[in-house]
Amino acid sequence: MMKAFIKTYGCQMNERDSDALAADLVKAGYSITDVEAEADILLFNTCSVRDAAERKAKGKIGFMRKLKKQNPDLIIGVMGCMAQRMGNTLLEELPHLDFVLGTGQLHKLLEVIEQVKRERVKTALTEPSPEVLTGLDGHYGNSIKGQIAITRGCNRFCSYCIVPYVRGRELSREKGDIIAEAREMVSRGAREILLLGQNVAAYGLNGDIRPPAPDHSPFAELLEELETIPELLRIRFTSPYPSYFNSRLIETIAKSDKICHNIHLPLQSGSDRILKAMNRQYTNESYREKVAELKSAIKDLTLSTDVIVGFPGETDEDFALTRELMNDVGFEQSYIFKYSPRPGAKSAEVPDSIPESVKEERNQILLDDLSKRIVSRLESMVGSTVTVLAEGVSARNDARWTGRTDNNIVVHFEPDDTIKAGTLRQVKITRSGGVSLFGELR
Ligand code: SF4
Repeated sequence: MMKAFIKTYGCQMNERDSDALAADLVKAGYSITDVEAEADILLFNTCSVRDAAERKAKGKIGFMRKLKKQNPDLIIGVMGCMAQRMGNTLLEELPHLDFVLGTGQLHKLLEVIEQVKRERVKTALTEPSPEVLTGLDGHYGNSIKGQIAITRGCNRFCSYCIVPYVRGRELSREKGDIIAEAREMVSRGAREILLLGQNVAAYGLNGDIRPPAPDHSPFAELLEELETIPELLRIRFTSPYPSYFNSRLIETIAKSDKICHNIHLPLQSGSDRILKAMNRQYTNESYREKVAELKSAIKDLTLSTDVIVGFPGETDEDFALTRELMNDVGFEQSYIFKYSPRPGAKSAEVPDSIPESVKEERNQILLDDLSKRIVSRLESMVGSTVTVLAEGVSARNDARWTGRTDNNIVVHFEPDDTIKAGTLRQVKITRSGGVSLFGELR
């Protein structure tokens, strides 16, 4: 049996694609290995969103030249966003590669592998194809937590982002296909599903770039249908664009006991001037209003976000507005990125004007604020009882189990004889570990 190795870079969407491709490979008779030296096929699912991610992937793929020399039959393929962005150039830069498969051609993986085996010709496929929308619905392995991609691509064109260019325009999957995939996952043991899309709240809007009316949300309708799957215990999603997060969606979440009350609401900047330059369609004020609406409707709401520091032209005053907004909202998790221009994105047309040292300083200030907030939040939970979805034996200590709260906080606890992965259990919190909690089963 031939063995395939898949290395994934970047976002959860890439992880999901790799998982679906692994399922396709297994169905076709391959086995999956995590040891690259014993693989017959090496696959790299790459990311282009940040320069660092591309450099890392290229370094690793370049290193595979050695394995190809030892075994000329080895098949090496690069997939995903960097493959889409570079196409044939990647085959020229890295001549030991056999194929390059862009984001719209991932469903052709098995076909391309067979072609390489048969003809030994180099191939680069980067044409967008709607078939990718229906072709990647398999799941490799059984897990109590699974992911489903509900949309592909993006129509927002934020000035710093190349997703619309490398992942194409926004397409929504059929609701029936998503529900069928969820039911299948649940029948194989999944109890929590994470819905993925570049802007999940635009699901079902047929690519319309105008945010929907307050009472219209096909995404909320999808959530409501998923909720009816009896054994499914939790639903999460990422990411919704703030101005698409309308009243209809907020009401659906507020009345649900399955949709987690932990929302990721990408901010990027708290300065209206920078938001405009980023082509983000909201302001500091309208973002605050959205948060206020969410907080008043959804009890126990926690929020996480994405922020970019050092966008071209960002002054100390712009940065102070971002910091103030983050502290006022009280995000419990943030992904803070130092700006780096991406070839092809609009913002790359203006100089990357903020020195690296300033970006680093701003990054550190936000990380310090965040860390203080997390520590104090976790300490405030000591003595309370929380509901966790039991996930399994802790990776660090096999005498303990790990689970997560609705708000996505990791809790470690000692199991009893009845513990079972995929069940909801009550845990009394006894201490904080700084980034996670420790407790006892009730
Ligand atoms: S919403 Fe903006 S940042 Fe997010 S994927 Fe689309 S273009 Fe990129």
